[in-house]
Amino acid sequence: MKKCELCSSPAKLFCESDQACLCWECDARVHGANFLVTKHSRTLLCHVCQSLTPWHGSGPRFVPTVSVCNHCIANKNENHDDDRDEDDDDVGGDNDEDDEENQVVPWAITPPPPASSSSNSSSSF
Ligand SMILES: [Zn+2]
Ligand SMILES: [Zn+2]
Ligand SMILES: [Zn+2]
Repeated sequence: MKKCELCSSPAKLFCESDQACLCWECDARVHGANFLVTKHSRTLLCHVCQSLTPWHGSGPRFVPTVSVCNHCIANKNENHDDDRDEDDDDVGGDNDEDDEENQVVPWAITPPPPASSSSNSSSSF
C-alpha cells in the first residue's frame, strides 16, 4: 500500500516531476502553491492495486476520482464475462467482419432453444 509522502493517507496520485506519491489533499496543497508546480503532470493511481493508470493531468488540484488501471479493468471484465456471455462477438472472431449486419444489435440474437427433453413439442400452432 503506497502512502502519501506528506501524510499517512493512502496515495491517490503520483507526481512525475516530484517523484512523489500524494493524496488528494496534499496534492492540492503542493500543486496549488504557484504556477510552476501547477504544471506538474500527475498520474492517478489505481484505486485497487495502486499502480499507475493511463489517467493523468495537471492543474492546481484534481477532483477526487476513482481510477482503475488496465490490469484491474481486465480482471473485472473477466469476472463479468463469466457471468453471462456466450453469444458475444468475443468468442473466437470467426468471421465478424463478414456479417456486420448481425453485430449491430446484440440483444436481437435469438437464444438457443431450451434443452429440456420435451418430446411433446409438435407443431400444434
Ligand atoms: Zn497527504
Ligand atoms: Zn509535483
Ligand atoms: Zn490496478
